Order: sequence, then structure tokens, then C-alpha cells
Amino acid sequence: MDCIPSNLPRTVLQVEDNQANALLVEEFLGRRDDLTLVTARSGSKGLELARSMCPDLILMDINLPDINGLQAMILLREDPKTAHIPVIALSSDAFPKHIENGLEAGFFRYLTKPYKLNDLTSAIDAALAFSQENYPSA
Ligand code: MN
Repeated sequence: MDCIPSNLPRTVLQVEDNQANALLVEEFLGRRDDLTLVTARSGSKGLELARSMCPDLILMDINLPDINGLQAMILLREDPKTAHIPVIALSSDAFPKHIENGLEAGFFRYLTKPYKLNDLTSAIDAALAFSQENYPSA
């Protein structure tokens, strides 16, 4: 069965291998009672969790120890079950061509580290609103 947007709290899957970066997001999103966050520390674990937990949103690091975040996002896009889940790239790679390629390949937004927490909030809220509008909860 395809993943469908959940009711509150909505679920966010963070795929991030760097502990400091992961903790920053965990602490920041921990202040929101409308979101539940789960962290995967590798691309393959992220793919596995995306398929099993059907998150409403994915925050994807690009440089991961196994599969890279761009490849992981493309695999999620190719799977009908997860194709519609918005994926936001959070990357230290700010090379403009890589950002452009990432957005063309399907990232909902691409934030470069260090990003402003306000920008992360805006991107998350826009992505959740987008999926709610386009794929209403059952
Ligand atoms: Mn990384």
C-alpha cells in the first residue's frame, strides 16, 4: 500500500550520519508537538525506514557513509510507495550546479549547511502543506 500523509503528529525521517547535525535537528524539532522525528544514520537505513514507517517528510543529508543522499532520494522517487514523500536536502555541498541538479532530480528544497533554523522551519512547513494538499489523509 502507498504511504499516505498521517494525522498529527506528523512524522519526519532525518537521514544524517553526523551526530552534531542530527542532534541539532532533534533538539530543534523536539520543540514542536506537531512533529515526531526519527533519525537514520546511513542512506540504506534511511531507505529501509522510509519504506517501513512512511514518514510525511524526509530530511536528507547528501554525504552519507554508504549511498549518497541524492541517489537515495531518486530511489524513493522511483518506488510508487514513497514517490510522493517530500524530501528536503540538508547539505554542506553548496556548489550551485549540484543544488540545481538536486532540485531537478526531485528534492523539494535544498538547504546548505549551515542553514538558518527559520529556513528549516519554512521548508518543513511548506513541504508538509504541499503533501497535505496534494495527498490528503485518508
Ligand atoms: Mn554527512
